Amino acid sequence: MTKSTKQNGTVYLVGAGPGDIGLVTLRAKERIQNADVIVYDHLANPELLSWAREDAEIIYAGKEPGESRTQQEINTLLIDKAREGNQVVRLKGGDPFVFGRGAEEAQAIASAGVPFEIVPGITSAIAGPAYAGIPMTHRMHNSHVTFFTGHEDPAKAESAIDYAALAKLGGTQVMLMGVERLGSITSEMLKQGVRSDLPVALVRSATTGQQETLTGRLSDIAQKARASDFKAPAVAVFGEVVGLRDSLNWYEKRPLLGKRIVVTRTRKQASVLSDKLRALGAHVIELPTIRIEPPSDLREFAELVQDAHVYDWIVFTSANGVEAFFNVFFKLYDDAREIGGVRIAAIGPATAQRVKDFHLHVDLQPEEFVAEAVLREFKKQGNIENLRILLVRAEKARDALPKELSAMGAIVDEGFAYRTVPETRDTSGARRQLAHDGADLITFTSSSTVENFLALGLPWPKGMRIASIGPITSKTVRDQGLKVDVEARRHDIDGLVQSIRELFTERTLRKVKF
Ligand code: SAH
Repeated sequence: MTKSTKQNGTVYLVGAGPGDIGLVTLRAKERIQNADVIVYDHLANPELLSWAREDAEIIYAGKEPGESRTQQEINTLLIDKAREGNQVVRLKGGDPFVFGRGAEEAQAIASAGVPFEIVPGITSAIAGPAYAGIPMTHRMHNSHVTFFTGHEDPAKAESAIDYAALAKLGGTQVMLMGVERLGSITSEMLKQGVRSDLPVALVRSATTGQQETLTGRLSDIAQKARASDFKAPAVAVFGEVVGLRDSLNWYEKRPLLGKRIVVTRTRKQASVLSDKLRALGAHVIELPTIRIEPPSDLREFAELVQDAHVYDWIVFTSANGVEAFFNVFFKLYDDAREIGGVRIAAIGPATAQRVKDFHLHVDLQPEEFVAEAVLREFKKQGNIENLRILLVRAEKARDALPKELSAMGAIVDEGFAYRTVPETRDTSGARRQLAHDGADLITFTSSSTVENFLALGLPWPKGMRIASIGPITSKTVRDQGLKVDVEARRHDIDGLVQSIRELFTERTLRKVKF
């Protein structure tokens, strides 16, 4: 659907969840995928923007110095964009109606007569304690929960929060905003008679790879927070349930927690690696350096695909190649049997899996993406002299494989299925994030990711180490004058993740020893 065909725009106030990209609703994802315009704030995880359409207009309405917009400007922006006929997504951290001015935005939109919808999200008030191993309620400890904002200084006469009532109420109390004012808030609570040894926890950057929890008592938490320079955004939990963390802390035990890891694959491919790293607790910065585009000569490739049945073997060297091949194949034919009796070789497990997704058998599967391994496997098959082989690959790929196969007597045709081009956009602000906050490790999953990352000319963050998927990629890294800190023993995503895990845990072990 293009913009011109639309009549009425709608504004969707969408809960972006607390940070973990897995903690958003299906509705939120669908709205992001369909949006013409997305306006997001600094608490919304920018990785969510990778679901946006290529042509979506993405506007940052955050709180970075010099970039902030007033609430009035944001309201006007949302209304104007909707009136132009756009589907407008306003992404707000957590739940759009839990603090953070979502209600005011909705009122402004409603009074402008613009249609709107609310997509609730998981608020940090709930997710923060959960990820810190603190249940909001427990039959033995409490039967109600209160959310309040620490935005206002309790010393101010006009403070809207009745701390006397809060003290009387007890139960679990969760405070959003206000870590900066924790000193005056806790002294006000003490003054109102809350017991000084009440357990308190502060959870910052909850549900992200940068989550940190600080626990203490009402009497000392403010001082502890000051001493450790505990910064926003954080939620504070007051109540007996905080003590349950001792046995229920789960998320902060992940081996890669706090590690900032850059993923340089294409947007589409990144998610497998990113998800696995996130599952281990890492903070992933998706910084795609390349994008997959159709080959320069699609007609020539299509002709080879059309004749696929005349070959003895088709060799796929990447999942992208498989995808591009069958895209064309099923445009040409509507019967899978048109592929004839050709046998299929797929290099690496991900490539093989993609072939299997099309319900085709993989006859030969060299484990490693190195020409030598492929040749070895072919040799096992016996004499390949005069066999016709179609090699489906990227433009400008290494040419060792076709040469070697030809040298063994095969008749090789190369089908250029796609090409990789530099990714020039930075929709999720990953480049800015890398420059600003640095990273512990960068992952390279092919030579082209190395070359294209360096071509971006970004300053190398201090101490950022390098993980490579295999020897060819490592060679490219070294040729560029850089050092490979870890190379995957198995040259696939799982192998890479395993090696990264070892790299970080080894260091911890060594630290413990000395
Ligand atoms: N609508 C949001 C809250 C907006 S107010 C929600 O439902 O979560 C902003 C406050 O939310 C921050 O000051 C902090 O207290 C809290 N917050 C948001 N994201 C957080 C996170 N990932 N970890 C801890 N606190 C968070």
